[in-house]
Amino acid sequence: VTGVPLGPGAEFDRVRAIAVALGSAAAGLGDDCAAVPDGTGTLLVSTDVSVEGVHFRLDWIALEEVGWRAAAAALSDLAASGAEPVGLLAAVVAPRDATDRSVAELMSGVAAAGAAVGSPVLGGDLAAGSAWIITVTVLGRAARPVSRHGARPGDGIWVTGSLGGARAALEAWRRGEVPTASVRRAFARPEPRINAGRWLADHAARAMLDLSDGLAGDASHLAAASAVGLEIELRSLPRAPAVGDEARRLGIAAESFAAEGGEDYELLVAMPAEFGAAEAAELRATTAVPLTRIGRVVAGDGVVLTLDGKTVTARGYDHFR
Ligand SMILES: [Mg+2]
Repeated sequence: VTGVPLGPGAEFDRVRAIAVALGSAAAGLGDDCAAVPDGTGTLLVSTDVSVEGVHFRLDWIALEEVGWRAAAAALSDLAASGAEPVGLLAAVVAPRDATDRSVAELMSGVAAAGAAVGSPVLGGDLAAGSAWIITVTVLGRAARPVSRHGARPGDGIWVTGSLGGARAALEAWRRGEVPTASVRRAFARPEPRINAGRWLADHAARAMLDLSDGLAGDASHLAAASAVGLEIELRSLPRAPAVGDEARRLGIAAESFAAEGGEDYELLVAMPAEFGAAEAAELRATTAVPLTRIGRVVAGDGVVLTLDGKTVTARGYDHFR
């Protein structure tokens, strides 16, 4: 096997096929960032693509917001590595009838998301195509980068912020309604957890990833990369506002709704057993980001999700399912 082990899913079967085909020509595939030795530290590099009609619709959000969330999604991978951003590049495919102004509006959002975390726009490329496609490549630096492997039995599993907000906005749009301001913001202007990621890296984080496809799916990647099992109690998940209402409409538990919702860009992190509520409060005081303990690392493999102690099934978003 080449690359970092990933959890199950059709999208990840395709990533595994790429890793096998490329072999030693791409040995580091499968983590949030590639880690390149750079003097006394490490250069972290990652890229992320946003496709009109797949990741966003322009009757839901403005082009400036499309740019923001495309950049935020890429910067979130730097957060997951505990890296300090250096800069970003944006390769944009715009529809043939796109104006100067609309392309500039999109890039204003990219630049604003970067500026919010000290990451200037270093360059990019522009081409015409059949829909909007934005690829953002981010560069960062870390003295001690955190990867997806390194979680050990006995570690606590923690998550930043709250989950399910972006999905709550999506469900409202799909019904033809306008989402509430706070969940709309969760979808349109997610905040990459750069400061929290760096703080956690400085406080002995063992393994970390960002939640792009939903906790239920992404947790399996951390388990696979670390060759451990995870036990997560869904009752302890911090839920975004409106998750309860949206879950009720779908007839599912609010906890499952939050666990399966993608694009929250929160961090999932394994911390040593001695890391506790006092340390989480210190993170919150330093970065204003809440951190909640949701489970633990055990010997074995895979992810067991429970609701009030009963095993439940939930799955993450998969582009090829
Ligand atoms: Mg990631």
